[in-house]
Amino acid sequence: MKNNVIEIDHLSTYFYTEEGAVKAVNDVSLRIREGETVCIVGESGCGKSVTAMSIMGLVEEPSGKVVDGRIHFEGRDLLSIDKNELRQIRGNDIAMIFQEPMSSLNPVLTIGTQIMEPLMEHQKLSKKEARKRAIELVELVGISRPEQIVESYPHELSGGMLQRIMIAIAISCHPKLLIADEPTTALDVTIQAQILDMLRQIKEESNTSILLITHDLGVVAEIADYVIVMYSGKIVEEGDVVELFEHPKHPYTQGLLRSKPIIGQRQEDLYSIPGQVPNPLELTESCYFHDRCEHCMSVCRTQQPVLHPMAGRQKVACWLYEEGVSHG
Ligand code: SF4
Repeated sequence: MKNNVIEIDHLSTYFYTEEGAVKAVNDVSLRIREGETVCIVGESGCGKSVTAMSIMGLVEEPSGKVVDGRIHFEGRDLLSIDKNELRQIRGNDIAMIFQEPMSSLNPVLTIGTQIMEPLMEHQKLSKKEARKRAIELVELVGISRPEQIVESYPHELSGGMLQRIMIAIAISCHPKLLIADEPTTALDVTIQAQILDMLRQIKEESNTSILLITHDLGVVAEIADYVIVMYSGKIVEEGDVVELFEHPKHPYTQGLLRSKPIIGQRQEDLYSIPGQVPNPLELTESCYFHDRCEHCMSVCRTQQPVLHPMAGRQKVACWLYEEGVSHG
């Protein structure tokens, strides 16, 4: 069996508002193996991006805080190492591609300078070597005229090109783990397919592990080996992509899959899960999905289900699969 690149145990990240603490990530545990693509899927606000930010050490205190857990990467707990060590790991061993390249790139620095920076800092390349590598990387992510592109500023390039540049920066130091937060959301479908192809190629050629955050089940089906479904800060189901798509167990996963558009389907025929995500400030000791669930039982309103192993690697947090529970 392949080794785990990262192991996260019981991670909890809260944000503090005047009304109280929002449990954005609530007791989340996950593993990513070498060369594996894990997708975290769920609606906005389910905690998927905050999980990624927690791994990268990007949760800003005092408004946010990782309050509990362990993030183990190559024998080190990222939550307890000092800031300098974390900075060395970030951008070198773990890199991140953000959703909005335009707001992630510095508008006053050339593309070349921004690709060269991590190469000089982490790989200790000279300026000349870094420039040569920057040109190779621009070519590698499929952009023509790389010598000219490295002299350009972000506003001179299209959204698709900027996202490729973000990928070039992210892979420049051969990370072991690449975190991509909705990397294709702002792009049209043709460019989206090209970016997904590129991520697949990076994984195959370099055995890079990928953690992909998305709300798009089409993207998950294209690229995932393993899928984690989050709802209101908690993992409600996880499993190998085929298991999960063919035999979804949790009513929320089933609803998400039913609401996936099918080619030729009329907009008005598209299924949507009834109701709303609960207010994060008003969560109780219940299944957080109970208000929207057609299978809701009395136990669901008073006790929270925990993740329960099913066949293979699949796990589900739902009282329907617990033995001895009254289905009343
Ligand atoms: Fe529905 Fe109950 Fe399962 Fe929650 S625990 S998803 S309310 S059946």
